[in-house]
Amino acid sequence: MYNIYYKTQIYVGKGALAHLGDYHNQSILVVADPFLKESGQLDRILEFLDTSNDLVIFTDIVPDPPIDVIVAGIKATEGKSIDIVLSVGGGSAIDASKAMYYFAKKQGVFKDVKLISIPTTSGTGSEVTSFAVITDAEKEQKYPIVDWDILPDVAILDSNLVETLPANITADTGMDVLTHAIEAYVSNKATDFSDALAEKAIKLVFEYLPRAYKDGHDLEAREKMHVASTLAGMAFNSASLGINHSIAHAAGAKFHIPHGRLNSILMPHIIQYNANVTTNGVRTGNLNKETAERYQQIARLLGLSASTPVLGVRQLVDAVRKLQKKLDHPTSLSAYGVGLEDFNENKREIAEAALVDKCTITNPRVPTVEELLKVVEQAF
Ligand code: NAD
Repeated sequence: MYNIYYKTQIYVGKGALAHLGDYHNQSILVVADPFLKESGQLDRILEFLDTSNDLVIFTDIVPDPPIDVIVAGIKATEGKSIDIVLSVGGGSAIDASKAMYYFAKKQGVFKDVKLISIPTTSGTGSEVTSFAVITDAEKEQKYPIVDWDILPDVAILDSNLVETLPANITADTGMDVLTHAIEAYVSNKATDFSDALAEKAIKLVFEYLPRAYKDGHDLEAREKMHVASTLAGMAFNSASLGINHSIAHAAGAKFHIPHGRLNSILMPHIIQYNANVTTNGVRTGNLNKETAERYQQIARLLGLSASTPVLGVRQLVDAVRKLQKKLDHPTSLSAYGVGLEDFNENKREIAEAALVDKCTITNPRVPTVEELLKVVEQAF
């Protein structure tokens, strides 16, 4: 028995923002990315809201939002009875809004509050997930909050909002989509429902991410990637993720690498570890057959021959590497700029934090700290 729960109402495409006009006389906390404020995009979005609404606008979001930003956002609502938390931005703004809602509700400050999310990156899928990642800057750790209550009530997908996204962030966030879909597909909680969502997302990423990267004004590619991001979010919201994300959470807080780029660097190593297959054919221990077959299915989905599970794994790794090349992505932590001393100082702590990360629970292979350490070293 399993339970599938998709509550978010999703408005998609041209005119979707008009849904904001349905709200009247509401007290709204707007949590937004500072870029959107500075570029004037936020004002254009907020024009869809009726003037009877009372707005508290909080735009002090930074990437990988730390706890003090969450506290400041809640503080900004002092003296108001908030009805809606509306987030506009990338995963950082959306996650921050979900964390504000989560903690303010726990403190009894927010009661019946609706969550509405408008993503302006095509990456995290946070607009349809019950996950929010916050950072403890002092401890240099990222924590995923996982709670059904933070699943947004409404998501508005308007790919025109993504057109201003620079090429490098398009690539990073797009690889985050791919990581979500692949991890959901091989998760030990994958179902026919999450498979269907993940399969479509994977196909869309391989087809449209290089186009969106090459030409940010390619609106068809932008639209497909925006949808792919939400599909992958829906997939992992039910199947959850794996150690690609566990390590990315732990290493991201140490090395401050954009989340999607870090996922991308790790991905080929995670695939090979999970299947227990290497690209040069040397393998100790047994093939993890069931997982290798799942990767083989992905490779076939991409039109590759993948005539055996081992070949499927190798071809998928190769396809990921080719995609990274098209996106000018670094393929190792050292190529990104992480120094050897810094790496050696932090690698064990990263492996230890990854082991206890919530995403590790659904990884298809149960790792040890030493194995995680080895994967991290390979990624260096
Ligand atoms: P982000 O929100 O940190 O944004 C990255 C950069 O893009 C920022 O500088 C931002 O100002 C800019 N930006 C955003 N929209 C823009 C636009 N339309 N035009 C130009 N610039 C724009 O990046 P992200 O990858 O969307 O989110 C990453 C965060 O989400 C991380 O903290 C990660 O851990 C978290 N995350 C959450 C989930 C989840 O399910 N909740 C899943 C994956 C990742």
